[in-house]
Formats: sequence, C-alpha cells, structure tokens
Amino acid sequence: MTDTYDLAVVGSGIIGLAHALAAARLGLRVVVIDRDRQANGASIRNFGLVVVTGQEPGSSRRLAERSRKIWLELANEAGLEILHRGKLIAAQRPEALAVLESFKAGEHGAECKILTARETVGQLGSLNGKAIVGGLFSPFELRVESREVLPRLASFLAGRFGVAFRTGISVNEIAPPMVETSAGRLRAQKVVVCPGDDFSSLYPQRLRELDVQRCKLQMLRLAYPGFRLSSALMSDLSLLRYGGFASLPEAVALRAKLGEQREAALANGVHLIVVQSADGSLVVGDSHHYGLSLDPFGSEAVDQLILDEFRTLFGKAPEVIERWTGSYASAKNAVLRDTPHKDVRLVIVTSGTGASTGFGLGEETIVELLSQ
Ligand SMILES: Cc1cc2nc3c(=O)[nH]c(=O)nc-3n(C[C@H](O)[C@H](O)[C@H](O)COP(=O)(O)OP(=O)(O)OC[C@H]3O[C@@H](n4cnc5c(N)ncnc54)[C@H](O)[C@@H]3O)c2cc1C
Repeated sequence: MTDTYDLAVVGSGIIGLAHALAAARLGLRVVVIDRDRQANGASIRNFGLVVVTGQEPGSSRRLAERSRKIWLELANEAGLEILHRGKLIAAQRPEALAVLESFKAGEHGAECKILTARETVGQLGSLNGKAIVGGLFSPFELRVESREVLPRLASFLAGRFGVAFRTGISVNEIAPPMVETSAGRLRAQKVVVCPGDDFSSLYPQRLRELDVQRCKLQMLRLAYPGFRLSSALMSDLSLLRYGGFASLPEAVALRAKLGEQREAALANGVHLIVVQSADGSLVVGDSHHYGLSLDPFGSEAVDQLILDEFRTLFGKAPEVIERWTGSYASAKNAVLRDTPHKDVRLVIVTSGTGASTGFGLGEETIVELLSQ
C-alpha cells in the first residue's frame, strides 16, 4: 500500500526541517525525503550563526527575529546547545565605525551598543588593540554547531512529532497527491520542495526563468587559539555583505576605502566571521564566487585572504586544521517562494541566510499553503 501523508517535504537541510517543524507543530502527518542519508549540503557547512543585526530591514529582519525565537525554543525542547550569544563587529576603519554609528541611530539599533576601541578589545581580550577603532555589540545572535544540530533536530522531529524520514532516495516527480521517488511512490496532500542549490532535479525550467545561480564559499577551521571568544565576531568587510549595513549611506565611503585597501578581498567576496566550537577550535570564513556550475576546488590564495583579515584582527593565526567549501542558491531577492502547483511550494533561501531566517520562513509557508 502507498504511504499517505498530509505533507511531504523534499530536502532535509535546515529549510526542509523548518517546514517539517512548522507543519508537525500544527499536528500534520509529515514525511521528509532526502537523497542523502543525512543533510550534507549548505546546512551543515555553515557557521551556524543566526544573524539578526544586519539583516535587510523588512521581511528578512522579521523572519530572523522569529527564527531566533524558534531556535531558543528548540534549544530547550530538543536540547540544542547554543555556543555563542551575541556578535561583536570590530571596526578597523573610521568609515566602518561611521556605518555602525548610523546603524545604532536607526530603527534596529536601540538594543545594540557602540563600543570605544578600548571597550571593543575588552569585550574580546584577544584582539589586536592597534587595529581597532571601535565596535558594535549586538545581543541577538546565536551560534550552533550545525553539523551536530541538524541530525539532532531530525531525531527530535521523528521522536517528538512522529515525522517520517525517507533518506537515500530522490524525488523525481511531483503531481499531488502523488510523489514519485527513486524508491517508489508515496501520497501527500501538499508538498514543499526545499532543494537548496539543486536546480536540475525538480522544476528546472521554472528555476531557469527565475534566474537563480549558485555561490561557492571557502571555510576554515583553526586550532584552539589559547583563548575563548565570548561572542561571534565580524569585521569591516562584513558590513558590505549584510543589507542592513550595506544599504546605509555611510557604506559608500567604506566601500571606497576597502576598494583601495582590500581590493583582492572584495574581488573574491571575502569577509570575516569568526565563531568558536565547544572544543575551542575556531570556524573562520568566508569567500563568495558565483556561477551556475561551480568548481569543487578550494583556492589557497583565497584562504590566505581570509587569514590575512584574521591576522589583522588577532595579530596571528593558529594552524588550519580543516578546510571545506559549501554552496548556496543566490538570486536578487533574499528568498524564492514559488507555486509550481496549487498544492506545491518551492522554497529556496537565495541570500545565504537560511540558518537565520529558515524557521520563520517555514511557518509562513505552511500557514499560507494550508489556507488554500
Ligand atoms: C559556507 C556557508 C556558510 C554559511 N553561513 C551561514 C550562517 O552562518 N548563517 C546563516 O543563516 N546562513 C548561512 N549560510 C547559508 C545557509 O547555510 C543556507 O541558506 C541553508 O543551509 C540552505 O538550506 P537548504 O535546506 O535550503 O539547503 P541544503 O542544506 O543544501 O539542503 C538541501 C537538501 O535537499 C536535498 N535535495 C535536493 N533535491 C532533492 C531531490 N530531488 N530529492 C531528494 N532530496 C533532494 C539535498 O540532498 C539536500 O540535503 C551559509 C552557507 C554556506 C555554504
């Protein structure tokens, strides 16, 4: 007999799990299908940083605020460990400090704190004081170890809500209520497709029309540096990568200054995020290269650009103990939500922010899909 569900979710990355959670909380019978045995894409390759401050004002910010709340609920309910709370942005240039001050004065700055150079270094004692002109501390960010949290979240969904996981099988065709997989057919009234940056398996023609491309990122893990970070860290280059900062008028001067001083970093989309794992090692990145077909090779020159930025802030860099690349879907808008059939939603975060906005997005999609 064919298995029957209220909702089938294609993809067990964070976006698929977020939709499964939202539906399971409403009491739906849910199945999650993934071609891998467990999530192996962007969702386990990221920093695990839930970014609120710096998200584009409007829906990205709203989704991030809601997602943060859900992460905190899950930390309790599913025993997910939160490794950092808050984010320090250490400014190395007056132009960067001007962006931070402008943000602080705006709609979303009230609960953030502008720091003097001394306070910034005091916040993370290991920083190179000579390089810092000031900073901003945001209390909102959370950091999880994605490669541990994703499987744990899947187990929680199965154990608490009875969500079924069908892994190691591909979904080849969707015609509700029929879902055709490489292991046969199942039935689901509604389907949400969360394929990450796979544009060729399902709805390839539609995705071509929507003009999505892929973005490749390089990531590093550094050995325990001999100190503990009290929060996540970003630097000047990061201010150009988050819409909530990059859209401020003061960002124009920062972009010009970084263009003069850090041309190669900008050309390779390099900026700096540093977070720390439970064993003390640091996850450090990243870079951004765009295309439809991405090469699988990590460039040593790009790794060195990331490490240069790290050394500027910390004086020296510990040994690199792990390297990996990841990729995500990229497009003009932050999120792609399409309706290829009245009972199907295609949902892709196209801005590299799925860990930050996914849970809110999952709730919105499920409410909208059920209201049909
Ligand atoms: C290096 C890196 C760092 C990042 N850092 C952050 C960060 O700190 N904070 C943040 O918010 N965001 C970050 N992001 C972005 C974030 O990780 C992504 O937005 C998010 O993981 C996307 O999740 P997803 O579920 O859509 O995709 P994925 O995690 O790629 O999952 C998609 C899944 O769908 C499955 N699938 C696809 N097609 C089919 C099919 N036909 N049948 C069966 N299964 C299928 C795949 O096997 C895969 O498991 C980062 C991304 C990268 C790459």
